[in-house]
Order: sequence, then C-alpha cells, then structure tokens
Amino acid sequence: MAERRNSQATGGPMLERRLSTDKMDVLNSRDHSGGSGSVGQSTQKTGISCGSCFDFIQGLQGGGPVADDGECDVLLIGGGIMCASLGVMLQQLEPSWKIRLYERLSQCGEEASNGWNNAGTGHAALCELNYTPESKDGKINITKAIDINEKFQVSRQWWAWLATQGKLGDVTDFIARTPHMTFVHGEKNVDFLKRRYELLKPNVLFEDMEYSEDHSKIRGWAPLLFEGRDPRDKIACTFYHGGTDVDYGTLTKHLIHSFIKGGGQVRMNYEITNLEYNADGTWTVYIWKRDLSASRMSKVRTKFVFCGAGGATLQILQKSGIPEIQGFGGFPISGEFLVCQNSDIVKKHPAKIYGKAAVGAPPMSVPHLDARVIDGKEMVLFGPYAGFSPTYLKQGRYTDLVSTLRPHNILPMATAGLKNLDLTVYLMKELAASKEKKLEALKEFIPNARGEDWTICTAGQRVQVMKRNGASTWDGILQFGTEVVSGQNGSIAGLLGASPGASVSVMVAVDVLLKCFPDKINGWTPKFRTMIPSFGQQLNDNPEMARRIMEQTARILRIQ
Ligand SMILES: Cc1cc2nc3c(=O)[nH]c(=O)nc-3n(C[C@H](O)[C@H](O)[C@H](O)COP(=O)(O)OP(=O)(O)OC[C@H]3O[C@@H](n4cnc5c(N)ncnc54)[C@H](O)[C@@H]3O)c2cc1C
Repeated sequence: MAERRNSQATGGPMLERRLSTDKMDVLNSRDHSGGSGSVGQSTQKTGISCGSCFDFIQGLQGGGPVADDGECDVLLIGGGIMCASLGVMLQQLEPSWKIRLYERLSQCGEEASNGWNNAGTGHAALCELNYTPESKDGKINITKAIDINEKFQVSRQWWAWLATQGKLGDVTDFIARTPHMTFVHGEKNVDFLKRRYELLKPNVLFEDMEYSEDHSKIRGWAPLLFEGRDPRDKIACTFYHGGTDVDYGTLTKHLIHSFIKGGGQVRMNYEITNLEYNADGTWTVYIWKRDLSASRMSKVRTKFVFCGAGGATLQILQKSGIPEIQGFGGFPISGEFLVCQNSDIVKKHPAKIYGKAAVGAPPMSVPHLDARVIDGKEMVLFGPYAGFSPTYLKQGRYTDLVSTLRPHNILPMATAGLKNLDLTVYLMKELAASKEKKLEALKEFIPNARGEDWTICTAGQRVQVMKRNGASTWDGILQFGTEVVSGQNGSIAGLLGASPGASVSVMVAVDVLLKCFPDKINGWTPKFRTMIPSFGQQLNDNPEMARRIMEQTARILRIQ
C-alpha cells in the first residue's frame, strides 16, 4: 500500500473549506487596508509620473496618479509554482538581488497550481500513455517518456536539497508516494501495453516497473478496479511502486514562505497591466492594485521580467511587444473532476491509474483514477473531463480569448483549429455530457461506481499553445507541451502552455536562467551542482548515479 498521509492525524479541514480555494491563509494573506503585503518593504509612492501617455490614460481610468514603486533586479509576474520556484532558485544563486513577485489574487498558489485545480501527478511517464506514442507502423517511441522522467528527477533533487536546507517545511505536507499504474482492456491495448513495458523496462529510470495480466495480482495493486468487474475481462496493467502524488498548491505556499524568509518581496492583489521596454535595457512594469486604496496604479523599473502568469502569460507577453510572441495564440480548455471522499472507497484505492484516451481527446484529458492528498486529506479524484470556457485563468475574464486575437495570430490559430476538428467535437461532447454520462467513463475503471459517492468539482484552466508552423505566417499548429518564450536580449521571458507543467517547473526555471543569463552560467554552475547533483548530465546515461540519486531523493522526500 502507498504510504499516504493520514488526514485525521494531520487534522485535515472540512470538505466545504477544502473545496474552496479562497480559504484564509495566514502565511500569504496581506493587509487589506492598503499595505503592500511585502516583507520588510513598504510601497513607495513618490507622486505623479508624467512620463508617458500610458501613465496619463491609466491615471484617468484607474482613479488617480501612477505611483513610482521603485526598482528591483527581477520582477516575477504570478504567484504559482513557476514563479515561486524561479524566485527561490534565483535567491540561492544571487542572494543580493532584489526580487519582487506580484500576484493578482489575495493568495499565492490558487490558480492552476492549487491542489484542487490539477491532477497532482508527479509526471515521470511511469503511467501516462501520451508520452509513448505509437506510430502507424506499430513502433512505440519512448524518447519523450525518458525526457519527462529526467526532468522530474531534477525536480526531486531540488526539492530534496531545499528540504535538507530547511527551506521546504515538512515534505509530507506536499508529496506522497503513490504507485503509478496504467490500465487497459481489450486484446489490442493489452498488446500495446506489453510492448511499451518491454521497451521501458531495460532503462534505469523505469527498471522497477512491473507488468501483469493476472487479475489476482492486479487486484492486489488496485482493489477498486475489481468492484463489479467481469472475471473474463481481458485487462493488463503496469505498476510502478515509487510514483508520486504532489500537492503543488501546498508546495507553492512552502516555496513562497521560503522566498519571503530569504528576503523576497511578495505583493498580493496586484495585477500587472502593462510593460514598456526602456532605452537603457530595463523594463517599466505597470501595476494595478486590486483594492480600494486611493492610488491604485503604480510602476516599477526592473532589469529582468519573468512572466509565470499561467494562462495569462500570453496576454502579458503580447503587451510587452516583443517580436518573439508574434504568431502565438492560446486555446483555453477547462476541466472537471469527480471527487470521492467516502472513506470506505478511498481506503481501497492507493494508486494513480491512467487509462487510454478517447478519440480526439487532448493528451491531458486521458482519464485517470487518482489517489490524492489535498490539504492533508486523502480522497480519490477521477477525470479530468475537458470542457470549454473562454477565460485564460479559472478566475479570469470572459474576454481573455478574444483579447489576444491579433493580425499575426488569427490565421495560425484558425488553421490549427481546422486541423484539430476532432478535438472540437470531443470538447462539445464533453460539454454536453450529463453526470450519468460522466459516470459511464468512471465505470470503465470501477464497474459498480455509484453516483452518490462522487461530487463534481471544477478544475483549473489550461491554455494550449497555438503557434505558427515553422516559418509559415499563416499555417498553425496546436501544441500540448510547454514553451519558454524570451525576448529583448533575454531581459524578459515567460512560460506558455500547461502540461506537464508543475512537475517540470524546476527544469523550466533552470532553462529560463540558462537562456536569459548566459554570462552567469559558469559562475552559477557549482551552486547548480550542489542543488541538483545531476546538473548537466543525463541520469539515463549513468545508471549508477541514477540509482543513487533516486534512492537519496526518495529517502529525503520520504517516498521510498
Ligand atoms: C486540470 C489540470 C490538471 C493538471 N494536472 C497536472 C498534473 O497532474 N501534474 C502536473 O505537473 N501539472 C499538471 N497540470 C499543470 C499545472 O497545474 C500547471 O502547469 C502549473 O500549475 C502552472 O503553474 P504556473 O505557476 O505557471 O501558473 P499558475 O499556478 O496558474 O499561476 C499563475 C499565477 O499568475 C497570476 N496572474 C495571472 N495574471 C497576472 C497578472 N496580470 N498580474 C499578477 N498576477 C497574475 C495568477 O493569479 C496565478 O496565481 C494540470 C493543470 C490542469 C489545469
């Protein structure tokens, strides 16, 4: 059985409170009387700026002058896992830099990174079939699976290092060992899974994977799969004992706490509205304070901007005017989970089980039955069921999608849409599906599942990247991964896309730093090696090092 945290022991809060994403958070809450919410620094308001037309228009609209909020070395937009990770990492590399993080909501980690808004999988390609696509001639490609696993090992190493430095609190608050399984039925799928297993098994990163078609063996791994199942069903599963469930929302809050303790400034209820590139290579960033104080607009000068605004990153990079963002668009996909908190059912399900996607389904909508721990409470989630909403954030605006349409991205977005009509049909079907219909998908996993044990909850928004196909100005593609876009000589960067997102946030942070600070890399390398022992190497090529590092990180993160 997976070693999962006991919610009763940790005093998990009530369901009603946990289903809300707006709970009181002492750690991250800010002064609502107009204080800055930052640690050790109050907002400087040095009067009206007459600098630009933008100042003037904002002054008219925003009710008052644009206050000058000083300068910083690095400005992070968004209080999710991405900026929290980048902020803490930069503090280790450059302790003297002044780093500021702005979040539009009243707490950090409440959008896609919140535990209720994502599936909490530590994506390492141990169970997700979309990382091992099969070509028409029947060849299975495992390259992507190895790449994702390598990236997750980087996250594990960095989190383990932070934990040994006392910078992450109690690791069992956010990570739990939870076996990862893949479940298929039918001759064809069983044959595929077996061939996939045989390709992965010789690789050191997957050598602990097991495979079985035997019902009694699989029942031992995941008893819930057999509730009402026909004993003649042809099924197969792979099983990886050392998979993980991660509460990325709690991890984000721990990282933000560490960031503040390390001298970082965090300002909540502040929304970035615009950016201007200055002749001296710095940026002026305009901020709207989302409260009732007299001066609601301010501006800050900074040498480097990172935009980790989740789905809103596209909008902000467009506002920056960098040419590199031309041709990019974003297609928002919303989602829903079925949640079960009936303890009789929850205790029978200790694993994360991924299945096979329906025709037309986007890869991240592959159904999965997940043992989860959110805010310290054990439960089972099923989904996500995909849907459509034009907002780019769960708490976004209905105008988000149209606000990003530009002459340079309309054709690539239209052609990408036409090429993915099966996705549109799939989304329409999912949108129209009743709770009974949703229950049918769940019954593939648990044949005698009962509706009364499951509640529907809304997941986070994902904004899939649509972009030009190569050099074409009109042809577009829909992309399901993530992409870092940077511009103006590396003085600005942002993360577009959603999946595998949080699991690879550490590697994304490293990539952003390598891309934007090439002159610093030599100086930073020893520190990188301390924080991430495999830095610059592939574990896949070094089986001994891989085994040692995986064992060490599992011990420190308490996921053996
Ligand atoms: C349904 C679903 C399932 C998922 N499952 C998984 C999974 O199993 N494993 C995994 O690794 N990943 C998963 N992901 C992806 C993962 O959740 C995201 O990639 C990750 O959380 C993104 O983190 P972020 O910090 O970039 O964005 P977010 O967490 O969305 O944070 C962005 C922040 O920026 C703020 N912001 C936006 N605009 C502004 C502005 N103008 N000014 C100031 N602040 C702003 C927002 O309020 C928000 O707090 C899933 C996502 C979804 C939606």
